[in-house]
Amino acid sequence: MLRQLLHSVASARRPGALRACLTALSCFGCGDQVNAQDDSSYDAARETMVREQIAGRGIRDARVVEAMRQVPRHLFIPAAERARAYDDGPVPIGQGQTISQPYIVALMTELVRPQSGDRVLEVGTGSGYQAAVLARLVAHVYTVELEETLARSAAAVLRELDYKNITVRTGDGYGGWPEHAPFDIVIVTAAPEQVPPALIEQLKPGGRLIVPVGPRFQVQQLQLIEKDASGAIRTREVSPVMFVPLRRPQ
Ligand code: SAH
Repeated sequence: MLRQLLHSVASARRPGALRACLTALSCFGCGDQVNAQDDSSYDAARETMVREQIAGRGIRDARVVEAMRQVPRHLFIPAAERARAYDDGPVPIGQGQTISQPYIVALMTELVRPQSGDRVLEVGTGSGYQAAVLARLVAHVYTVELEETLARSAAAVLRELDYKNITVRTGDGYGGWPEHAPFDIVIVTAAPEQVPPALIEQLKPGGRLIVPVGPRFQVQQLQLIEKDASGAIRTREVSPVMFVPLRRPQ
């Protein structure tokens, strides 16, 4: 029901996203994809996804569209749910959790305007899929995941797919990743109630931060925060969304 509510909120605010269900939930139990074989039967499904959900819904950056075409999304999803990998919505990936809808991944990627030399921080590795999409467009992705099992399985899939420009770390991403800061882009795929100050601090001048902000398990606002050359901050609310909460370790 909440999903339907989100659907209508999203549709009202973003006509281009008419069929989008802006739900982007968490990911658990992705441990079995390491030995998965790529399967060309998924190619047609991925093509349709790109045509109908990505290009067809207003994602204009050709590099983003191409990255969505290249990354084998099904390999980031447990075998039991893999047949639904290219569906227009979040897909359950174990323990009641889901991986984000493809459109949301593409939208967030486009909004941060990735450039080939960029260094990116992602908070919330989950399955590793968003990191893989970004890694095709930028120089390096540093991604932090609170849940060790998720971090391990994401790292394994990314290694299997031969990504060399992604570094995965287990830990709390609330404080960013100071050792690798500053970043051109920070992308947060779990929702804090307020924007973590360290993530703004770790943005370069000219940097872009995309983050869903709001209460736990309620409608949140996707915010695009930009730091200009003088260090001034400008915030734009992009769309209502729902992500799992950004959690803090006990
Ligand atoms: N980007 C992911 C989806 C992430 S779902 C993908 O492409 O699959 C959100 C993730 O954020 C979950 O895996 C959750 O464990 C993680 N998370 C929640 N709080 C966190 C925190 N404080 N630091 C790092 N990761 C966190």
